[in-house]
Amino acid sequence: RAGKALPTERATAFANEVQGDLIQPGDRDYEEARHIWNALVDKHPGAILKCRDTADVVAAVKFARDNDILVAVRGGGHNVGGRALCDDGLVIDLSRMRDVHVDPARQTVRVQGGATLGDVDRETNVHGLAVPFGVISKTGVGGLTLGGGVGWLVRKYGPSCDNVLSMEVVTADGVARTASADENPDLFWALRGGGGNFGVVTSFLYQAYPVSTVFGGLIVYPRAAAGEILRAYRTFMETAPEDLTVYAGFICTPDGIPATAVVPCWSGEDLAEGERAIAPLRKLGEPLMDAVQAMPFPAMQSILDAAFPAGTRNYWKSAFVKGLSDEVVDVLVEQAKGMTSPLSGLLIEYYGGAGGRKASDTNAFAQRSSDYLIGFMPQWTDPAEDDPQINWAKGAWKAIQPYATGGYLLNYLAEGEQEAVQAAFGANYQRLVELKRKYDPTNFFRMNQNIQPDA
Ligand code: FAD
Repeated sequence: RAGKALPTERATAFANEVQGDLIQPGDRDYEEARHIWNALVDKHPGAILKCRDTADVVAAVKFARDNDILVAVRGGGHNVGGRALCDDGLVIDLSRMRDVHVDPARQTVRVQGGATLGDVDRETNVHGLAVPFGVISKTGVGGLTLGGGVGWLVRKYGPSCDNVLSMEVVTADGVARTASADENPDLFWALRGGGGNFGVVTSFLYQAYPVSTVFGGLIVYPRAAAGEILRAYRTFMETAPEDLTVYAGFICTPDGIPATAVVPCWSGEDLAEGERAIAPLRKLGEPLMDAVQAMPFPAMQSILDAAFPAGTRNYWKSAFVKGLSDEVVDVLVEQAKGMTSPLSGLLIEYYGGAGGRKASDTNAFAQRSSDYLIGFMPQWTDPAEDDPQINWAKGAWKAIQPYATGGYLLNYLAEGEQEAVQAAFGANYQRLVELKRKYDPTNFFRMNQNIQPDA
């Protein structure tokens, strides 16, 4: 399947108008440009514009609007549901808009909309600063921030979206606007957690914090000890300081041995205090590996990268559960037995902390409780395995439903989970529908965790 190209004459005029490259089916770079992190996504856009600047984004929005062309917006391309791409239509690809500029005096950082977390961490670390982001360095700041954004600093400084000071955004009418507490505050509210629904963010201004060296890393225990480890993890988290974020999960070691992982990250000032705080997690049993140490924050930000390589096949199901009760732990231990691919993971994340103390209507990001997030994340390489792997995630997700809160993390939603989108926004949904009607009444931006204006 080639992808329906744009009408030739119009495409030529458009290509001449923009600074970036317009890549179309048959072009040398087309195959590479239409692939993203998840190889399960196999879409054939009509054209992909590798934008150079905000003017290109404005031109693309106007061109698509005037010619009634479907658009998708690509940031880091990490969305598991493949929302960065569309079949036919035009992809507004921001992957060449990755500039990062740190203002050390103000402790702020201006980041273009197509940058990855790693792009930002590199630059902020030069100044001993960091922005709260996710845990894989190749993820895009765009999708991650607009959907909330949780990672190693979430308990101390809140989700990424709480740490945005302003944005430059091209809305569906093709106008570049500022969204901040002072300018278009309703749009600012919606963009912080509302996903890609409200426009193309060409740059973010973030608050950064003095985080330079952290104490953390991977502790790996045998799989047989999983139940015990998770119960101890739960007890530990009940009194864990907010300087410390800890994830846990079922993984396999690189040589394929089923294991249980505990991954702490201490971001407080005093590393010796961090080492003491983490000590109990290193004695939950006989570890197969203990790689916890002091390290530069960008190193912590990439210790899990190898476990999520680009080009494998991925499908995710996730849910929040109220507490990690013994019953929940038993269900997880049982479901993990069905993980047949050594690349797969069953992850447990716990946030709360600074973000959790804020009201759930602070901005569009509603999932601020201290519930546990369970992610069923099969990963495989053989297309013949698609059905069994997807079915495992669906089955495991079903098994956890009796304990689920009904809430979802927007950023972890796979394709076709439309009812979960509404649940992810919780009580903020209705206001988001109203703002979608105001800023995007025709649902021009719909390749995302979509808020329908006529809902
Ligand atoms: P894309 O697929 O490019 O975009 C995702 C969505 O956002 C699309 O709808 C797109 O149109 C829109 N979008 C992207 N950039 C912009 C922009 N500049 N303006 C407007 N719309 C835009 N999430 C977390 O919160 N914490 C984590 O630790 C975390 N880890 C992850 C690890 C891996 C390996 C993966 C694959 C995902 C992870 N995620 C995490 C989820 C991630 O935040 C979402 O998948 C997010 O959508 C990725 O953003 P992106 O820009 O890379 O993706």
